[in-house]
Amino acid sequence: MRMSRYYLPTLREKPSEAEIISHQYMLRAGIMRRLAAGLYTLLPLGNRVKLKVESIIREEMNRQGALEVFMPVVQPAELWQETGRWSVFGKELLRFKDRHDRDFCLGPTHEEVITDLVRNELRSYKQLPVNLYQIQTKFRDEVRPRFGVMRAREFIMKDAYSFDASWESLDESYQKMYQAYTNIFTRCGLTFTPVEADTGAIGGDVSHEFMVWAEAGEDGMAICESCKYAANTEKAEFKRITIDCPQVTPAAEEVHTPQVGSIEDVSAFLGVEPQRLVKTLIYRIDGERYVAFMVPGHRELNELKAMKAAGASEMEMASPYEVEEITGAPVGFAGPIGLKRPVTLIADHSLKGAKDMVVGANREDYHTIHVEVERDFSPHQYADLLLVEEGDLCPHCGEPMRIARGIEVGHIFKLGTKYSKAMNATFLDKDGKEQFFIMGCYGIGVTRTIAAAIEQHHDDKGIIWPISIAPFEVSIVATNVRKESILKAGEQLEKALEDKGVEVIFDDRDERAGVKFNDADLTGIPIRVTLGERGMAKGEAEVKLRREKDPVIVKVEEIPQKVMELREELFQEVRLP
Ligand code: ATP
Ligand code: MG
Repeated sequence: MRMSRYYLPTLREKPSEAEIISHQYMLRAGIMRRLAAGLYTLLPLGNRVKLKVESIIREEMNRQGALEVFMPVVQPAELWQETGRWSVFGKELLRFKDRHDRDFCLGPTHEEVITDLVRNELRSYKQLPVNLYQIQTKFRDEVRPRFGVMRAREFIMKDAYSFDASWESLDESYQKMYQAYTNIFTRCGLTFTPVEADTGAIGGDVSHEFMVWAEAGEDGMAICESCKYAANTEKAEFKRITIDCPQVTPAAEEVHTPQVGSIEDVSAFLGVEPQRLVKTLIYRIDGERYVAFMVPGHRELNELKAMKAAGASEMEMASPYEVEEITGAPVGFAGPIGLKRPVTLIADHSLKGAKDMVVGANREDYHTIHVEVERDFSPHQYADLLLVEEGDLCPHCGEPMRIARGIEVGHIFKLGTKYSKAMNATFLDKDGKEQFFIMGCYGIGVTRTIAAAIEQHHDDKGIIWPISIAPFEVSIVATNVRKESILKAGEQLEKALEDKGVEVIFDDRDERAGVKFNDADLTGIPIRVTLGERGMAKGEAEVKLRREKDPVIVKVEEIPQKVMELREELFQEVRLP
């Protein structure tokens, strides 16, 4: 491919809208352009990367026996009403009417459509299991689209849905997808960890997220190096903590704590360690009742655990106005004793029987000290409410865990019969009895995977693509194309490599060498061959890996062989074991 005829608009400046490196480089390296918030066009270079990622996904999905289909983006409301998600999904679901005034939405996911297909087509256990997948555009009207294609509104997803006749069979289908995902992300050259995850709005019970390690990731993961337990921080469990508190509690007493609201301030003011202050956080549950969650002052509430403990399907922090109504004081002084309205008190396990604690007094500028849990107040319920932190002990082996940030590129779920029951999707079992399909669903963010790869593979000059997903494998940079002999040599090399099946981009533009090197670094093609005037006069050229600093000097006639060797080495790194 000739660069002079390619559409590869690189940018020298960092675009102001780009907050993270992948977003920045995807714009600068001519991979994509923004159309509107969360909507991007992939340019020729970006589209090549997308095709590569997709073909790796296809190969691994097919290897596990999944079958590719292609479903519509536009979905009728009736299917979503059957599962109840028409009302549950909220504003992320983009809804509209057709000319006959019928309701439709743009598919954010395809459980409804696939379940509808299968219930109309598959009748017998003999036809199971099946796993159907597609690679297709999804639309989610995200509250805060950001980071380019990392959290876009329109993006490409590979989504797969398995249908099994038994739970054991679902386990096998799930395991196959776990393997497929492991293979896919390995072949994409990513460092990743599958973590236990919450099942969220999609539903079901068992689920794993595939996390690519990156500081820019929106997700946290808790990892035990010793037994390999790994979980999303939203879901992570750990051994219960204990609070270091005195043996006896003097009589409770209200004290004046003027203008100190935060845990740090109260702690400093009273000379009491944060762990002995009880944080009381008031939430409105399912829009109707209030729950106060209590955690020790040095720890954060895990809202997901809190929701589960409260049996809530929706939960929102009470507004300052509501807090004032409930406690009789502004935010910052809530406590479990003397609330003005009925509130369910749920405390973290660590607070059970805790002695000589400090709580908010439900009165402006006052706290109550010398409070003993169970003596001065009794929660209605104890639960695990804490967000995991660095150093918390693994729930399985008791070793300290570490916390790392990651990008969720894939997510697999055991759905069970949630959708088949809601949509009455059944098959006939061995005894001719109707049974609900047992389902699983499996997603990969194709465009997000591209961004994640850049987050992991770049330097201050640009992208360093893993060869398996690089838009081109080799770039040939000719430093002076006005010189006929150099241009010719470049053309010959391009042809020689292309004949061997190598994907080559030949920078034959009439530009300064510096400009070409910068573009080559920015676009991150893994292998670079430089045909310079001085070297060529001696019959030599430079061959360099993008990730390495120094080139090797190679005789012109040996370039193809050297390139093939390096290419093989790079591919070897992303092959399955
Ligand atoms: P997140 O928690 O990041 O919003 P999710 O749990 O909503 O993700 P799933 O419904 O499991 O995501 O979708 C499957 C995959 O699709 C995700 O693992 C992710 O890679 C990708 N994905 C989801 N939302 C987006 C988005 N807004 N932009 C790009 N990719 C996305
Ligand atoms: Mg989401």
